[in-house]
Amino acid sequence: MTDSGNPRELISREALQRRIDELAAEIERDYAGSRDLLCVGVLKGSVFFLSDLLQRLSRPLVVDFFQTSSYRGETTSHGEVRIRRDLDHSLAGRDVLLIEDIVDTGYTMRTIMALMGFRGARSVRLCVLLDKACKRETAVRIHYRGFEVDDVFVVGYGLDYNDRYRNLPYIGVLDESTAGCQGQ
Ligand code: 5GP
Repeated sequence: MTDSGNPRELISREALQRRIDELAAEIERDYAGSRDLLCVGVLKGSVFFLSDLLQRLSRPLVVDFFQTSSYRGETTSHGEVRIRRDLDHSLAGRDVLLIEDIVDTGYTMRTIMALMGFRGARSVRLCVLLDKACKRETAVRIHYRGFEVDDVFVVGYGLDYNDRYRNLPYIGVLDESTAGCQGQ
């Protein structure tokens, strides 16, 4: 895959913002009774999504981040998850809302969610902007899902290729050459 072309727009800025309105309304409703909501973003891809989402919530919350190992220019993941930057906050007894850009094979989120449970979170829910459901290799429960996408490599709105394209205000397809999900 090269990164010289212009990404084709897949999800417009307007469609993203409309869907985030809906997700925020759902989250606000579901956490109405929670006193101690910790919103955890996975660096760096979730940052644009997290920012737009959390600005729509009026309830008190705390924001924290962690970072897992990245693709380093490759476009497939291998089921190996490494924590590069850990959280500042303790999870013990807290309701955790994990915010991620995209779930592909599911290995990253499965590992992270298990870790949060192990660290004593009261509840852990997952909010994902994009779901490549047809690529899943391990089951992951997604509580809040923005959009389902096909098996194409997407960039923009936080998602990168070699650390580029994050600032696109829409989701674009960089590489259409990967196998499609149809018929799987
Ligand atoms: P998983 O462990 O679910 O296979 O991988 C999740 C991670 O893979 C995401 O956080 C993201 O960094 C990366 N990823 C998977 N698919 C794409 C994609 O289409 N575009 C980009 N930019 N990253 C992807």
